Amino acid sequence: MTPITHHIAGQATAPVDGARRQAVYNPALGEPSAELELASTATVHTAIAAAQAAFPAWAAVTPLNRARVLFRFKALLELHRAELAALITAEHGKVLSDADGEITRGLEVVEFACGIPHLLKGEFTDNVGGGVDAYSLRQPLGVVAGITPFNFPCMVPLWMFPIALACGNAFILKPSERDPSAPLFMARLLKEAGLPDAVFQVVNGDKEAVDALLGDERVKAVSFVGSTPIAQYIYATGSAQGKRVQALGGAKNHMVVMPDADLDMAVNALLGAAYGSAGERCMAISVAVAVGGVANKLVPALAARLAQLKVGAGTDAASDMGPLVTAAHRDKVRGYVDSGVAEGAELVVDGREHPACAASGFYLGPCLFDHVTPSMRIYREEIFGPVLCVVRAASPAEAVALVNGHEYANGTAIFTRDGDSAREFVQAIEVGMVGVNVPIPVPMAFHSFGGWKRSLFGPLHMHGPDGVRFYTRTKAVTARWPQAVQADFHMPTMK
Ligand code: NAD
Repeated sequence: MTPITHHIAGQATAPVDGARRQAVYNPALGEPSAELELASTATVHTAIAAAQAAFPAWAAVTPLNRARVLFRFKALLELHRAELAALITAEHGKVLSDADGEITRGLEVVEFACGIPHLLKGEFTDNVGGGVDAYSLRQPLGVVAGITPFNFPCMVPLWMFPIALACGNAFILKPSERDPSAPLFMARLLKEAGLPDAVFQVVNGDKEAVDALLGDERVKAVSFVGSTPIAQYIYATGSAQGKRVQALGGAKNHMVVMPDADLDMAVNALLGAAYGSAGERCMAISVAVAVGGVANKLVPALAARLAQLKVGAGTDAASDMGPLVTAAHRDKVRGYVDSGVAEGAELVVDGREHPACAASGFYLGPCLFDHVTPSMRIYREEIFGPVLCVVRAASPAEAVALVNGHEYANGTAIFTRDGDSAREFVQAIEVGMVGVNVPIPVPMAFHSFGGWKRSLFGPLHMHGPDGVRFYTRTKAVTARWPQAVQADFHMPTMK
């Protein structure tokens, strides 16, 4: 098998003899589809050196002309979206319509980045002192890196690199080892769009590649999205090296269902948000907090609908939910289901018994737990699979306290018909992204995305205005043109 390699200095690298390799799987078949070469430190250094060399010329391209490259990239993404979606489904397992949706959400960031001439505008104050003007400008950082998770092989890289490139940086992407083909495909499209070689590169690999990026002083900033323990490691290591770091971590997103909520609406929202993409979304709802007895109607309604949910290959248009990404991850999620049963939660729908589990792919059917309590592992930990936990809360205040007591704070939602309850919830809740009758409140590209607490390390969120702030540094200029200037030995103040 010819291995999948890297995209360095504008082309796919030749396979390296003796390089470490890892299998890439087709989760629907449960079989390896390719071998991936894992970059050595030396390979990463080659990419960094190429990026460093390419950076000054790219930074000197006017923002308008950088935006024009991104306009062409956007057109190419649209032209090739079916191929890209097929690559995502083949290596991740999610259904094709979901893969297509992730491309749309990524494209929106490209569209945002196309406005970079406007976004880079600084501030200007004339006459801050007699004959003195002050202005600020935003300049790129240099070589920057992105390290991304398996669950959005297209969208999460697109949260980062369109803005980084538009700001004038050279970007090195280290995608997930599980699904490297979509990022490599995008690298080829960027080249076709006219991006100079080595301004965008992809190095595939694992901890060795990540550590090579973190340890190199030529890399000025690192954006990371993945699990919390690795996010913490990236933030601590990168910051200690003096890099700018934004590290987005794991999640446990609660949806609060108030007694007055429209039940059909809440059930539909929960089905999509908990089981879409087999629960492998950082904004998936994994806990439904049923307030004031609403669980007695909610749980049977969910169970009835789950009996009809179709689990199958992502390429089958009839499938609602595909397999999990690897056998190891499927087994880990099954382990959580076992632990929930052992700890006394009521397993209302048991996905371990789903007929799809008999196939060779990495399947697990949808699971629904009722009577989950905050001390249980299935409540405390991120499962990242098709498992929804229902927790019963006596009052809205108890629901808010429950959400605020969790260590993760990525997204949350409230379902209610009452404006006062919704407003109080929005004000009191300690979570980064909040939905009101919207189960997955992912901000649009022109806003910024990020959680609180152990769901994000670093001050800036991703994409939107924070993305521009992250990938640039500001310079403040104070300017005066020749007039009679007296030597002044006091602290300068404006006259
Ligand atoms: P992961 O943390 O295992 O991997 C993420 C990246 O880190 C990959 O590129 C991987 O190669 C690298 N990595 C893994 N182990 C490493 C190590 N020991 N040292 C250095 N680098 C390492 O995450 P995953 O399983 O690919 O993705 C799922 C996780 O990502 C979930 O926890 C999910 O909540 C999270 N996620 C969060 C967001 C968000 O916006 N907060 C978005 C998507 C996914």
